[in-house]
Amino acid sequence: MKKKNNNSKKKLIIFAICVAVLAVVAVAFSQTGGMKPFIKPKVCLDAGHGGSDVGAKYDGRYEKDDNLRLTLAVGKILEENGITVIYTRQEDVFVELEDRANFANRNHATHFISIHRNSAESKVSGVEIWVESMAPEYDKNFAKYIADSIDEVGYGDKRGVKQGYQGNPLANYLVNSVTEMPSCLIEMGFITTPEDNELFDKNFDAYAKAIADGIIEGIKKAKD
Ligand SMILES: [Zn+2]
Repeated sequence: MKKKNNNSKKKLIIFAICVAVLAVVAVAFSQTGGMKPFIKPKVCLDAGHGGSDVGAKYDGRYEKDDNLRLTLAVGKILEENGITVIYTRQEDVFVELEDRANFANRNHATHFISIHRNSAESKVSGVEIWVESMAPEYDKNFAKYIADSIDEVGYGDKRGVKQGYQGNPLANYLVNSVTEMPSCLIEMGFITTPEDNELFDKNFDAYAKAIADGIIEGIKKAKD
C-alpha cells in the first residue's frame, strides 16, 4: 500500500515536470513568433495569369505563356538545388489572385515569387521587382538579390526594386499583400517592347538561372 502511494507521488512529480517543460517551450515559441522559418525553405512560384486571363499581349504573344515557361524553368533549377518548390499553376489554367496567395499561406511557403511581364504605352524596357508598400526590410533585401542577379546578365534599363503598385506606391499587388511570407512580383521586361521580347527569348536560360540564383542567395543572405 505504501509503495503504491510512493508511485502515485512519483507520477505526480513527473506530470508536474512535464507541464513545466511544456509551459517553458510554449513561452519560447510565442517569443520567436516573429521569426521566419528559413531553416528549410519552401518556395512558392506563381506564374502570373493563365487560362482565359492571358495577361498583357503584343503581336500574338501572351504574357501568361512567357510567365509559365519562365516559372517552370526557375522552379526546375531550384529543385535541382534541393529546394522544395510549390506552384500556383503548372499549366495553362485560370487561378484567382486570392487563391494563389492563400495556396502559399496554407502550404506554409517560406517565400513567394510571382513572375509576370510588364506592359506600357511607350517603348520602355527593363525588369522591375515589386514588394509591398510597407514591405519589411527583409522583403526588400530578398528582392534586391534577385534584381542584382538579373542585372548581372543584363536586361534593358535597370528599374530595380519598387514598393507598392504601378502608379500608386500606397496600393499593393494582391499576391504581395495577402501572402503571409516574404514576397515579391517580378516584371520580367516589357512584352510591349519588341527589344525586350528579343532579350527574353535570347537569354531565356540565363534569366531563369539568374532568378533562381538570386532566390538561393536571398534565402541564404537576406537580412531583416
Ligand atoms: Zn501580369
